[in-house]
Amino acid sequence: MIKTQLDSDYRIGVVGAGTMGRGIAQVALQAGFNVSLVDVKPGVAQQASEFVGKMLGRLVEKDKLDGAARDQMMGCLRIGTTLGELAGCDLVIEAVIEDLELKRRIFDELESVCGEDAVLVSNTSALPIAAIGARCAHRGRLAGMHFMNPVPLMKLVEVISTPFTSPEVVSVLLAVADRMGKTAIKVQDFPAFLAGNCARGFYTEAVRFAQERIASPAVIDRIVREAGGYRMGPFEVMDLVGLDVNFPASRSLFEDSFFDPRYRLTPQYRLLTEAGMLGRKTGAGFYRYDDQGKPCIEADPAAASSPPKRLWLWGHDQAARALLQTLADAAGVEVSVGDKAEPGVACLIAPLGEDASTACARLGLDPARTAAVDTLYGWNTLRTVMAPPGADPELVAQLIALLGVDGVAVCRVNDSPGFVMPRLQANITNLACDLCQQGIAAPKDVDLGMRLGFNFPEGPLAAGDRLGAGVMLRLVEALYDFYADDRYRPSPWLRRRGRLGLSLSTPERPETL
Ligand code: NAD
Repeated sequence: MIKTQLDSDYRIGVVGAGTMGRGIAQVALQAGFNVSLVDVKPGVAQQASEFVGKMLGRLVEKDKLDGAARDQMMGCLRIGTTLGELAGCDLVIEAVIEDLELKRRIFDELESVCGEDAVLVSNTSALPIAAIGARCAHRGRLAGMHFMNPVPLMKLVEVISTPFTSPEVVSVLLAVADRMGKTAIKVQDFPAFLAGNCARGFYTEAVRFAQERIASPAVIDRIVREAGGYRMGPFEVMDLVGLDVNFPASRSLFEDSFFDPRYRLTPQYRLLTEAGMLGRKTGAGFYRYDDQGKPCIEADPAAASSPPKRLWLWGHDQAARALLQTLADAAGVEVSVGDKAEPGVACLIAPLGEDASTACARLGLDPARTAAVDTLYGWNTLRTVMAPPGADPELVAQLIALLGVDGVAVCRVNDSPGFVMPRLQANITNLACDLCQQGIAAPKDVDLGMRLGFNFPEGPLAAGDRLGAGVMLRLVEALYDFYADDRYRPSPWLRRRGRLGLSLSTPERPETL
């Protein structure tokens, strides 16, 4: 019988005392568990023990932990170099390097060392749990327990079930995570699980912006931060983590999904990686870094101008048009009325999902005298403007001057269906919808996972609901229509909820939540 009481005898074994293993050992000790930490490399478990002692010591210095409590925790830690030391553990968490054959061998050995009642889990980032445990005799007790780095700071733990994992095992793992002060979400075994999978929407759309030259990485990152509210832009994150880590993770997800274009990468992303331009650690990646490690960012050569005298306005809805009108009033610009723009007048439009070229063609506007502004993201923080090819630079400068008349910063990108932030968010939300459709996690856990696992400012489903499921669907449909690329096919989950005007968190059936 699996032990369900997390009593004072409960012992957690950790295999691998590297970055993750030592962090897991630390949070387990802090939660009051007994811990056995083993690493095959001589001296590593001892170093990890000293490291954990130092981390707990820092908490004592900051008055966050009692000195006596620290000593007691360290007294509950055993270290070793062989898996044999894990006999008697109630739960073993494997955290060795990401190598399927090695992990399989470790699980084979754990089965012979640990009692039949011990729960065995892997902290793998992306290897299928079912594949790791494929040779095991007692597969009901196998699962994934995916901690995030750095373990003591990151709240999220993904508890991953295979088709064989027993419900009691999931319950115990949720309770263990809870005791460790973590927020656990239930996830099904799936390529990159939940958070790692959904986060690819953030990276792969960003690299597409760069490949297509919608804007420079610095401009994209600025829009994502200042208009989107994300803590860091995608290129900053990739350069920080390192392309040697990010690119292979993205590539294996693309391959593991049988080349689903939703996860497709770009040649430029691969080229940078293969050229050794790995980000901060090599002094260049998507950005170049100076001797102090600061990214070198070229200023936007925006021409200074003043607002046009007359203007024709069009917004995709009343609210968007009203925003444009307010600005025109503030700048004292005369607005021409009528359904059609009179020849020669400057046109400022706020499309939804369309690029400026498509909107111009549909509305019969002169592309030389038209620019578009994003009214969905950044209206009060950083406005995004785009213009069709052939737009008059002086006219665009005048419209940018108008858009900055109330002191809000404006940045220009090249023509892009859905601009930058709505398009990026639509891509992430569409992916999140697909994960819900496939039952990889419950809607509330999808949002929780992305907020806690990747520091997203809001969950992707909540972000969709804030704009409206119908608006989100129109954005994705517009991308699908423009590019004729299956990458942007709307998820059935999004189509149904968008068409019905329901929240994106609406389950298929209430009782399945
Ligand atoms: P790491 O290289 O820092 O540590 C791995 C440790 O495992 C090493 O100390 C190594 O000596 C030890 N080891 C190797 N073979 C062993 C064996 N047979 N028995 C016992 N110990 C053995 O790796 P890490 O970054 O801690 O990653 C560990 C696992 O966690 C990987 O599966 C990784 O994908 C996953 N993960 C990593 C992160 C991260 O950001 N680092 C985040 C989440 C999950």
